[in-house]
Amino acid sequence: MDQVLKLRSIAFGAVLVLVAGCTALPPAAAPGATPGIRPVPANTAPLPVDATGTAAPSPALSNPASSSPASSSPASSSPASSSPATPGSPSAAATPTAAPSAAATSTADATPPKDTRSGRQLDQPYVVNGIVVVSKKHPISKRYQRKHPGKYGLEKEVAAALAELTAAAKQDGVKVLVRSGYRSYAEQDKILKRKIVEYGSEKMARRYNAEPGKSEHQTGLAVDLWDGVTWGLGVRNTKVGKWLWKHAREYGFILRYPPGKEKITGYAYEPWHFRYIGVEDSLTFNPNSKLTLEEYLGIG
Ligand SMILES: [Zn+2]
Repeated sequence: MDQVLKLRSIAFGAVLVLVAGCTALPPAAAPGATPGIRPVPANTAPLPVDATGTAAPSPALSNPASSSPASSSPASSSPASSSPATPGSPSAAATPTAAPSAAATSTADATPPKDTRSGRQLDQPYVVNGIVVVSKKHPISKRYQRKHPGKYGLEKEVAAALAELTAAAKQDGVKVLVRSGYRSYAEQDKILKRKIVEYGSEKMARRYNAEPGKSEHQTGLAVDLWDGVTWGLGVRNTKVGKWLWKHAREYGFILRYPPGKEKITGYAYEPWHFRYIGVEDSLTFNPNSKLTLEEYLGIG
């Protein structure tokens, strides 16, 4: 993987390294390797709830990315590996699942930077602890560019992790399909406008669909997944939905809009929308966790 995701505090990083090490997940897979996933055009599925538009904050691309134009260094695990198990907080290490439901324990040691961007500064995303955050409160401009677009338009690192996820799911007899990957600012704009007409309610449409500039899909760090049959909230009851909520974390993804957290995330429950943040962070989320990225990072 060419993007070093998180620059975490050293102690915490060490802890996570241990965790990640246990799972033996090769951080980065071959760029082009994302077999078995068939993208389904959003328009083909006439479903009640459109998952497409959701603005999910984007993942793991770290701020370093913005500062390092040519990030071809396969340094995915270097920061981690270089810091041997530090005594930092062993207890947490032992329990990767130890993410408290409300607090951003892991990252809380440092006060998150305030998002003071404006104007051209919005060409770069708000980044907290190396994790890109795009949401209603933290938009990006239409000039925002992905670093390394790969399959489905996702960042290559994300596409590679997704390939691993789908392969693992397949082994469990679960066929995960991609319904929506990257979406441009212009596409997001069209989607929201179309949804407002479909819903007949702008308010409802906005619960599930992001305004351009406020969708994680524009970052190539988020993906909508399903089984190719059931869409909308029903995804949560499908084999795919259940498998993902439990196992996506093992591949660097988190359920970005958990149930009951609309006031925090700005979006209603979306059992299909997964955001890549990298395993070092995702493993601190429990299986079936309702912890939000906002809570995890300690931001509003
Ligand atoms: Zn989505």
